[in-house]
Amino acid sequence: MSSYWFDTSASSPGVNAAPCPEEADVVVVGAGITGLVTAVLLCNAGKSVVVLEARGIGDVTTGHTTGKVSLLQGTKLSRMLKVQSTRVAKSYVDANREGQDWLLRFCLEHSVPFQIRTAMTFAASLGERRAAQDEHDAAQRLEVATEWVEDAGVGFETYGATVLRDQAQLDPAPLLGALADRVVAQGGVVRENSRVAAVSKFGQPVVTTSDGMAIRCRDVVLATGTPVLDRGLYFAKLEANRSYVVMFTGTSVPGAMLLSAGSPGFSVRDVPDPDGGQLLMVGGNGHVVGRTVSERSRLDQVRGWAAERFSEGTEIHAWSAQDYSSHDGVPFVGALPRGRGRIHLATGYDKWGLTNGVAAAMRITGEILGEAPGWARPMAHRITRPRGALAMVSANAKVGAALAAGLVGAELRVATTTPDEGHGEIGRVGLNPIPVATSTVEGRTCSLIGLCTHLGGVLKWNDAERSWDCPLHGSRFAPDGTVLEGPATKDLKAHNPPPATS
Ligand SMILES: Cc1cc2nc3c(=O)[nH]c(=O)nc-3n(C[C@H](O)[C@H](O)[C@H](O)COP(=O)(O)OP(=O)(O)OC[C@H]3O[C@@H](n4cnc5c(N)ncnc54)[C@H](O)[C@@H]3O)c2cc1C
Repeated sequence: MSSYWFDTSASSPGVNAAPCPEEADVVVVGAGITGLVTAVLLCNAGKSVVVLEARGIGDVTTGHTTGKVSLLQGTKLSRMLKVQSTRVAKSYVDANREGQDWLLRFCLEHSVPFQIRTAMTFAASLGERRAAQDEHDAAQRLEVATEWVEDAGVGFETYGATVLRDQAQLDPAPLLGALADRVVAQGGVVRENSRVAAVSKFGQPVVTTSDGMAIRCRDVVLATGTPVLDRGLYFAKLEANRSYVVMFTGTSVPGAMLLSAGSPGFSVRDVPDPDGGQLLMVGGNGHVVGRTVSERSRLDQVRGWAAERFSEGTEIHAWSAQDYSSHDGVPFVGALPRGRGRIHLATGYDKWGLTNGVAAAMRITGEILGEAPGWARPMAHRITRPRGALAMVSANAKVGAALAAGLVGAELRVATTTPDEGHGEIGRVGLNPIPVATSTVEGRTCSLIGLCTHLGGVLKWNDAERSWDCPLHGSRFAPDGTVLEGPATKDLKAHNPPPATS
């Protein structure tokens, strides 16, 4: 499955062109929205910056987003107010507003196209009406200028909607290309296919890549989605959630950006077609990574949801991606513990990283330069209410349950198969206590140790993406064991059966 955005991707000729220096002011790890905006801001301030990206620019979450740049974020504000103070929620809104303003200004200045749209959180059923109304109430309390409408006027039945005018949507590919260009134009270095394997614990930070490159620096920014260093145990404070996106041509489109108020939610927007028409994008139906019976079925449910509401069209793309959420909905941004204030992280955007990622970049840059924005303080020093703390305990209990279920399930030799396009199964072989993950994709069979290289979770075959996914903290691996994303930094090991004895 591949993201539509990569079809129209604007490449950046300066990327990978310059050799990597041995020293820099700041090494930014990760070239998604967070890493590239941080790099632009630091370059603007005259710092020497190297961006190291394990895969390609935008290859992980940013290149798979639905591209809404909005302050109305589903039911985000009402959920946050249940576990956080009005002051913290207000700083969250201020941070997102500044992030949105910066991003749209950058787009205007660098000819990155975007469209202005009304955002709506709508009730798709009577049961969702309360949640949609609560969002309007929360937005009003936090000075976000929403309106309540009984008729959303989107061409299918709704039960009321919270509406925020003058929001935006974009294609992330030209945006990422323009950000990378800006870094390179100001003397920064951007390197793809450079996976960071370690950051030294003592003395001046030294960042080492898995192919042996080492860069000394003053500061390191981990803009890697979930942090790839375990210091601070952020993996245990985050939940990795995967969602699905399907695109259609030749169908009706709504005139607004929509998100249903239920859980899981469904998201809708139009996408201008290069030929002058409009495409329909429908997404959502998220779940914790590795904790669903069949990812393919999840994708089919998105197709079904779209078919019930829009005229029949032709599917042109389908993909899935994941993002991370914190227990209280507020991103984790700041200095990593035991990093002497020199290692910074940003994560936990809960699928709203186009504004939150920019805000995080502003905050980290401010902290490096000694002038953090005013809204950063309440978020940095927040105390979670008991309900939020309970959410974290419950998330970790589910991790424990997933670990136990994996170990028991592996004994039963669980298999999921999709014979037409690939096949994966996991289980114990003979008396060997370690589960073996075997897959066949495009005629190639790989046999691997079926335990995540992060914390040993038993992997699950993702039958939509044809990958091995960890139900504990969201690490994912290709069929040949190559790490794709998540907190794991090492590939899966091959399973070499012991030679037969006669
Ligand atoms: C389906 C979906 C739809 C979404 N829709 C929206 C939306 O409409 N609006 C919105 O605001 N947000 C949306 N989001 C959320 C948003 O896309 C993300 O929050 C945001 O893209 C995260 O950006 P990032 O830079 O933190 O992470 P990423 O884009 O994932 O970038 C992190 C980068 O770090 C790299 N990396 C990881 N480990 C290493 C390593 N060891 N060494 C070097 N590099 C490494 C990765 O390869 C990756 O490229 C959506 C998310 C999903 C999943």
